[in-house]
Amino acid sequence: MTIVRVALDIPLSRCFDYLAPEASATDVGRLVRVPFGRGEKTGVIVAVPGHSEQSPDKLKPVVAIERTLPALPPDWLALGEFCARYYQHPLGAVLNFALPPLLRRGRLPRQKKEKPRSGTPPAVRPALLAEQQAAVDAISGATGFMPFLLHGVTGSGKTEVYLHAIEAALARGRQALMLVPEIALTPQLEGRVAGRFPGTRIVAAHSGVADAARARGFLDALEGCADIVLGTRLSIFVPLPRLGLIVVDEEHDASFKQQDGLRYSARDVAVFRAKQHDIPVVLGSATPSLESYCHARNGRYTLLSLTRRAVAEAMPAVRCIDTRREKLQDGMSAALLAALELRLQRGEQSLVFLNRRGYAPVLACSACGWISNCRRCTAHRVVHLADRRMRCHHCGDEAAIPRACPDCGNQDIHPFGRGTQRIEAALQDRFPAARVLRIDRDSASSPRKWQALLEQIHAGDADILVGTQMLAKGHDFPRLTLVGAVGADAALFAADFRAPERLFAQLMQVGGRSGRAELPGEVLIQTEHPGHPLYAALAGHDYHHFAIAQLAEREQAGFPPYAFQALLRAEAREVAWSLEFLSAARALAQPLAGEEVMLYDPVPMRMVRLMSLERAQLLVESRSRPALQTFLAAWCNALATLKASRRLRWHLDVDPLEL
Ligand code: ADP
Ligand code: ZN
Ligand code: ZN
Repeated sequence: MTIVRVALDIPLSRCFDYLAPEASATDVGRLVRVPFGRGEKTGVIVAVPGHSEQSPDKLKPVVAIERTLPALPPDWLALGEFCARYYQHPLGAVLNFALPPLLRRGRLPRQKKEKPRSGTPPAVRPALLAEQQAAVDAISGATGFMPFLLHGVTGSGKTEVYLHAIEAALARGRQALMLVPEIALTPQLEGRVAGRFPGTRIVAAHSGVADAARARGFLDALEGCADIVLGTRLSIFVPLPRLGLIVVDEEHDASFKQQDGLRYSARDVAVFRAKQHDIPVVLGSATPSLESYCHARNGRYTLLSLTRRAVAEAMPAVRCIDTRREKLQDGMSAALLAALELRLQRGEQSLVFLNRRGYAPVLACSACGWISNCRRCTAHRVVHLADRRMRCHHCGDEAAIPRACPDCGNQDIHPFGRGTQRIEAALQDRFPAARVLRIDRDSASSPRKWQALLEQIHAGDADILVGTQMLAKGHDFPRLTLVGAVGADAALFAADFRAPERLFAQLMQVGGRSGRAELPGEVLIQTEHPGHPLYAALAGHDYHHFAIAQLAEREQAGFPPYAFQALLRAEAREVAWSLEFLSAARALAQPLAGEEVMLYDPVPMRMVRLMSLERAQLLVESRSRPALQTFLAAWCNALATLKASRRLRWHLDVDPLEL
């Protein structure tokens, strides 16, 4: 009697055995349809064991094994098992997540002839600069597992390094995987890569790809006929039998960490996968994560540096504008306005950066103190004048802007603070002839709109851009010579220990958009703390200095990367229930924790309410990764036995990015 062991997408970490008379060891990795409960489910065969723990008469037969598809290879299953173990997530749920939605539902994409790509002219292949060449040589010369941190200043031509390294991998008959952040950079990059490697099969894997195409791309990769896979974090799970190189561009980017379900970091999984395949992996950034930089300093990663820009003569000049003694006009200083005016006269582009969309973050009544709170979250509803709505940016709850205060009837209610819409309006008012273009999640609400906005900027049909961090990454606008940052101070004293790292990266990235071509760039930062070391490091383009100082602080405080963390979060109708659950969880943890694992007290989350649920969290920490992992596995088992009220949900976040 042949038995197959199947991983199913259910919230249990165990697998299920079924009878499959015709199955053999070659069926490991195949999709299979099985009866489950009162219905059927699709799962993945993870083993064909000799016998089952359960008595054979209790086992049900499978419905059908999918044999028209090639089996998923052992290394793919091993990758899933690693993620299940590391992130404490059920294996079936991990594998299910790693499959494209169509295959997940047991459906196959119809065979379609791949149209050869047309329209992308063969891209020019510039001669590499010495630093670029050295980086490419190091990567291409690596035999076996070797993690590289490519630290290249903005505009230093990191992409060129990736493309050369990919070329070398392809020349050896291998496949390459390139990961980029979430924000729609993929279409531009796809065009560039396609132009560079005509005749190769390039697969795009991100949430914008239609289901059928995604499933086809996955199968092409699995069968080895795709050469390059280009995508966001989810592409780390595409099976690649001939994988020879992994690139993670903008490796510091938070979008590589998934914030729900399987809370994995695609960057970290990329390093695991490179090790598994015994191949090089390149993590690239102008502002590496402190985790990666720490590895580079202690020798676990090989540091490759690009210290100068490829095209531009110099880095942009960064200057702080002291706003303490100045009366700002619509939130902007005289110096910034003058700089904008100068760019308009010269026919150059400017960018005003403000990481806050909407018109104003809050509406308030000056008579009774009413403020536009969200009914469901610990947050304000943001004023959106463009469509005259107030909207919560966390849950989407919205309402029309009231004419009078809902509490006291006072008609004198005002928006407070500034968002991108307000800056846009103010600039349009001040520079009536200028073409002001706002770029945020509202104006670029679909990939098509986003694409249209980008084309407009590239065509030079915009003089002043007002944008959030959407514009910070990867873009190359040759005529952009001024970046002004307003409202950056808010992040300077935020409670999260990662806030300075994030702010520094953001400002350096956004500042790096200026002066990338022949025209020199300038960055103006409005601040009430012009002497702050973070700004000083920015002005000196001194990532290194900033990173060392931050690492020293982290080491002293015992924060990552010098400690490893996991968070248990609970959410329920009342925060008291969440806290009660976490206290019980902590009691279970105590005997398991040992000396090396530190348990904190359960606390309400900083933003307690989200979508009418009240949240609390419990932090666990250790200086030893293995100790933490051992503890988490035991704790998770124990937690499964903990009776939580039906309306309480909890999850574990390993290596959380936000505390
Ligand atoms: P980064 O990603 O490091 O910020 P990019 O890869 O976008 O930088 O490159 C910045 C600009 O420099 C691009 O326009 C690119 O085409 C150009 N570039 C890169 N390498 C070279 C080179 N060796 N010679 C000439 N131009 C280059
Ligand atoms: Zn009022
Ligand atoms: Zn809300």
